Amino acid sequence: MAIILSALKEPAGEKRVALSPAVVAKFVKGGFEVLLEKDSGAAAYFPDHLYTEAGATIVNRQTALAKANLIAVVDRPDEDTLAQLKKGQVLIGLLKALVEPAVIQDLAKRQVTALSLELLPRTVSRAQNMDALSSQASIAGYKAALVGANAFTRYLPMMITAAGTAKPAKVLVLGTGVAGLQAIGTAKRLGAIVSGYDVRPASRNEVESLGANFLTSSVNAVGEGGYARQLSAEEQQQQQDELAGFIAKNDIIITTAQVPGRKPPLLVTQKSVEAAPAGTIFVDLAASDLGGNVYSSKPSETITTANNAQIIGAQDLPSQLATSASEMYARNMQAVINTIVNEAEIVIDVKDDVLSELVATYQGEIVSGRLRQALKLPDKNTDKPDPSAAATAPAQPATTEGEK
Ligand code: NAD
Repeated sequence: MAIILSALKEPAGEKRVALSPAVVAKFVKGGFEVLLEKDSGAAAYFPDHLYTEAGATIVNRQTALAKANLIAVVDRPDEDTLAQLKKGQVLIGLLKALVEPAVIQDLAKRQVTALSLELLPRTVSRAQNMDALSSQASIAGYKAALVGANAFTRYLPMMITAAGTAKPAKVLVLGTGVAGLQAIGTAKRLGAIVSGYDVRPASRNEVESLGANFLTSSVNAVGEGGYARQLSAEEQQQQQDELAGFIAKNDIIITTAQVPGRKPPLLVTQKSVEAAPAGTIFVDLAASDLGGNVYSSKPSETITTANNAQIIGAQDLPSQLATSASEMYARNMQAVINTIVNEAEIVIDVKDDVLSELVATYQGEIVSGRLRQALKLPDKNTDKPDPSAAATAPAQPATTEGEK
């Protein structure tokens, strides 16, 4: 019997879709039966007829959920939808496992299998084509530079014209991971003078290879797996003080700093926001309900301050570039599904070096090592409590005084 793969229509405001018509055609060719909830791809400009032409069937949500062996999503579905999932079904998407692990624990209790793409071990080279965090961050970084340029009331490049010369804009990118590097590359191509800053010294070479200046941080915060670690309160204060000087010299500040499973670090303080000259643009990719990198940023909102600076809460940039973002995401999804399907059977090898992290729940258990740590569960290999668990506890609720 063919494996049945469904994609759901995403929650309101999300324009991406988990499967593109091109990827659906590949699954159908590979012997899958594919069901698409009606209008799933409409906001990414993939109308239903493109999916039917690719061999999928358009169904309502109830059917997409009831019949599927595998359910592909971008964002984690709402509670009602999760409640309808049954034992043995496999849900794959950006499920926020580290941020809201209790929801995942509930899926485990109900024996629903969940693969949370944020848990992918990104440094394993054969996992690179599954890396949805990178594909989506890359899109966000590119779009951040465009959003910043669009809101800015001056030229980005130097312009020498008969009507005079315009000096180039200065763009500062705080956090030079995947999104930050893409923002740097895009701002450079638009002709700005660009600087990058990160607490991982290793990013210097990447920033400089794009022709941007690297601003050295006095705080070194290399964490595990290539990520940054959370700063202590003293380090954060030191960083905020040194960043204030850098921020004041720039016109557009794009912030992308994240620490996995934690609320984003505050890099631009109230003082820096209030001191910014009129026309300064802050684009905060880390803006979230937990807080952002820029004081007072709000997800999906643009705030104009009393001094006429703009703070753009830009956590939804991949959704704004929905067609490209969905095409890339669908290819990541295809790679993940190909890893767990073997000759029309779903085979989840929890000892595999990628799946042992990517799989959040399987057969009623929490599998992923990082998620187990976050939940303070004993390490699966030793059955002993993990001593480092406290260092990777789930996200804390919003801002505390000490961080401002
Ligand atoms: P991320 O989204 O977790 O964070 C974005 C950036 O913010 C990172 O560069 C991080 O160092 C920086 N940051 C965090 N706290 C900060 C602070 N207080 N001040 C300034 N900057 C801060 O990062 P990401 O883009 O997902 O990348 C994380 C790492 O993973 C990088 O080292 C990247 O090169 C690596 N990576 C490797 C692969 C691979 O090997 N295939 C793929 C993707 C990413």
